[in-house]
Amino acid sequence: MIDFSLTEEQELFRNAVKTFAEQEVAPIAREYDEREEYPVHILRKLGELGYLGASLPVEAGGGGGGMIAAAIMSEEMGYASAGIYLGVYVHVFLALNAIARFGSDAQRASYLEPGIRGEKIGAWGFAEPDAGSDPGSMTTRAIRDGDDYIINGTKLYITNGSIADFVVATAITEPTLGMKGLSLFIIDTDRPGFSVARKLRKLGVRASDTAELAFQDCRVPKDAILGDENVGFANAMRTLTAGRIVSAAFALGTARAAFDQSVAHVKRRQAFGQPVGQFQGIQWQCADMALEIEAARLLMQKAAWLADEGLPHIKEASMAKLYATEMCARVTGQAVLLHGGSGYMMDSDIQRFYRDVKVMEIGEGTSHIQRNTIARQIGL
Ligand SMILES: Cc1cc2nc3c(=O)[nH]c(=O)nc-3n(C[C@H](O)[C@H](O)[C@H](O)COP(=O)(O)OP(=O)(O)OC[C@H]3O[C@@H](n4cnc5c(N)ncnc54)[C@H](O)[C@@H]3O)c2cc1C
Repeated sequence: MIDFSLTEEQELFRNAVKTFAEQEVAPIAREYDEREEYPVHILRKLGELGYLGASLPVEAGGGGGGMIAAAIMSEEMGYASAGIYLGVYVHVFLALNAIARFGSDAQRASYLEPGIRGEKIGAWGFAEPDAGSDPGSMTTRAIRDGDDYIINGTKLYITNGSIADFVVATAITEPTLGMKGLSLFIIDTDRPGFSVARKLRKLGVRASDTAELAFQDCRVPKDAILGDENVGFANAMRTLTAGRIVSAAFALGTARAAFDQSVAHVKRRQAFGQPVGQFQGIQWQCADMALEIEAARLLMQKAAWLADEGLPHIKEASMAKLYATEMCARVTGQAVLLHGGSGYMMDSDIQRFYRDVKVMEIGEGTSHIQRNTIARQIGL
C-alpha cells in the first residue's frame, strides 16, 4: 500500500510553517540578501513557535515528526528564502541533529534544549581550507591534556560561523588512524582560543552567515567530545546522510518558488499579441520544470520514508540530494530565461533564486561526491 498523503497533523504543520514563511520570511528575503546579514530573529521565532525541534526525536526533546516534518519545514522555508533558511537548516539538521543522535544527557541539556528553543545557535565545522570533499586531508587536531583537549586548526565556509554559540566540529584525535581517528566536539564560541578569523562574502545565500573559524590552543573539557572518541567520521556521515534528504526538500522548495513565479509571469507577459505562455515552446519548458520538480519530490519522499522506517537509505539520500539540487539549479536558470530581462534585475526574486541555489550542489557533499556515493552503493 503506497500513501503519499500527509496526516492531519502534518497538514497542520505545513500550513503553520507556510504561513510563517509567507508572513515573516519572504517579505525580508531581499533586504537581508542585499545587507548580507543573517536575520537571527527568524531562528529565534521558529524556536519560540516550537518548529525547530519538530522533526527531532521525542526522547531528545523534539516533536518526533521525523524526516517528513523536516521535509515539510525545509520545503516551505526554502520556498520563502534559501539564504535565510540555510542558517536554520545547519543549526537544526546538522548541529542539533548530531547532538540528538550522539549527545550525553548533559550535552542535550546544555545545547540541544536551548537550541530547540532558539536560544542558542549551532554551527557545523567539517570543512577546512585543504579538506572539503576529502575529509582524510583534515588537519584540525585535538590533543588530550589531562582532563581537557587542546584544539588547533581552521574551519572554512562555516554557516552561522560568526553568530553561533557553539560549533559541532571534527578534529583528529588519533592521527595514525586516518579518517577513523576523527572525533566530534561541541565547542563553545566564547572559549579562549576560538576566534572568527573572517566573515566571507558570497555569490548567493547572502542572507546566511559564513565564516572562517580559527582554533588556537583552544582548551575544551574532555566531556566536550560528542559521541565516542575516534568515531567522529562515521557519526558525521550519519548526520550528513540525514541532512541530504532535508537538502533535497530545501531545493524542492526554492525550485517550486521559481516555477510558480514563472508560470504566473508567462500567463501575464504579452509578446506577438498573446501571453508568452500560449507559445508551445514555453509550455513545454514549463511542463518539463513541473515534471522535474515532481520527480525530485518522489525521490525525496522515498528517501525520507526509508529513513523514518529505519531502513537503509544512503543511496536514496544521495540520489534525492543530487537530483533535487541539480534540478533546482536547472529550474531557477530556466526561470531567469522565462522572465526575460525582468528576471535578471536585482529587484527580482528570480535572480536571487538563481544565485542562491548553486551552493546546494556544493554543500553537504558536492554533486560529484553524491555520484561517488551512489556508485559505491551500486557495487562499483
Ligand atoms: C555557502 C557555503 C556554506 C557552507 N557551509 C558549510 C558548513 O556550515 N559547514 C561545513 O563544514 N562546510 C560548509 N561548506 C563547505 C562545503 O561543504 C564544501 O565547500 C564542499 O564540501 C566542497 O569542498 P571544497 O569547497 O573544499 O571543494 P573541493 O573538495 O576542493 O572540490 C573541488 C572540486 O573537485 C571535485 N571533487 C573532489 N573530490 C572528488 C572526487 N573524489 N571525485 C570527483 N570529484 C571530486 C568536487 O566535486 C569539486 O567539483 C559550505 C560551503 C559553502 C559554499
